[in-house]
Amino acid sequence: MNAERKKTRPVSVGPVIIGGDAPVVVQSMTCTDTRDVEATVAQIVRLIDAGCEVVRVAVPDEEAVQAVASIKKRISIPLIADIHFNHRLALGAIRNGVDCIRINPGNMEKDKVGRIIDAAKARGISIRIGINSGSLEKDILTRHGSPTAAALVESALRNIRFFEEMDFHAIKLSVKASDVTAMIEANRALSQATDYPLHLGVTEAGTLISGTVKNAIGIGLLLYRGIGDTIRVSLSRDPVEEVKVAYEILRALDLRHRGPEIIACPTCGRCEIDLFKIVNRVERALSGIQASPKVAVMGCVVNGPGEAKEADVGVAGGRGQGVLFKKGRLVKKIPEKELAKALIDEVKKLVDEANRKG
Ligand code: SF4
Repeated sequence: MNAERKKTRPVSVGPVIIGGDAPVVVQSMTCTDTRDVEATVAQIVRLIDAGCEVVRVAVPDEEAVQAVASIKKRISIPLIADIHFNHRLALGAIRNGVDCIRINPGNMEKDKVGRIIDAAKARGISIRIGINSGSLEKDILTRHGSPTAAALVESALRNIRFFEEMDFHAIKLSVKASDVTAMIEANRALSQATDYPLHLGVTEAGTLISGTVKNAIGIGLLLYRGIGDTIRVSLSRDPVEEVKVAYEILRALDLRHRGPEIIACPTCGRCEIDLFKIVNRVERALSGIQASPKVAVMGCVVNGPGEAKEADVGVAGGRGQGVLFKKGRLVKKIPEKELAKALIDEVKKLVDEANRKG
């Protein structure tokens, strides 16, 4: 069973609340050139369709600052500007209407951070203090020898003090490292030291398989212990995949459910249907659905009927054919080549019925 979620203070990013009693918020970051407004908006629209609730864009120069104003007008979710080194870009992004600024105070002088804080305060927006193992303050790095969990936490606490001294409390925190254990330890320590909401992520996690594993372990283990208020899965892929993985992590921990849960067997020598083809087709066809019925695709009659019966809709394969179950009842036998379509149709019917009942 999940540990009780650690209560943090709620912080707003536009209309989205992060922390407090709010559910864990899923966010992502675009990988387009922010200055290309059309491409960036198109990617954000795809991210929203996948369930992204807050989006961050990189703001590397003045042209990107201008682009932010146009992007903000054309999207329906809060926009965060990701700023490094140059406080003027943060000030410009704030003027242009972003809902939150993400800075890494380790790569900016204190008086410049102070000016960003003043501007955010005047506009009533929040700031994410993003501590990253790759850019810790020099004195902290020298003292700890390497970007250990303790070094990350020391940097975060030092920056929190600075923000609090300026009477700014609309803070979210992230301590990210590509080393999963350092990220876990740092977030555990930070959640004990402060009640600001935590943004969880494993930075530079890598490709789909290795990145998914690292994110699932790092983010998942912390969420399981009740730590974390918003998550960003980072993958070297289309960010839509990041959002999908984020929801699978939340589903696995029974924290949030979005989209059908597809249960499929790995197949073995008993399988007599082309299960991988069927399951891929089913997954693609159901990917736009927000409801979360359980859908089973099983290869044979050994475990198949049992799992298929447990699901809301399921099929179990046989020689060149399969049986379709709905809510535990056997509906009919179907030839293999019609199996995927029959399953997809049944799931859609079920979702429509549920939507009609409201
Ligand atoms: Fe093998 Fe059947 Fe189990 Fe699939 S359901 S793994 S085909 S025994």
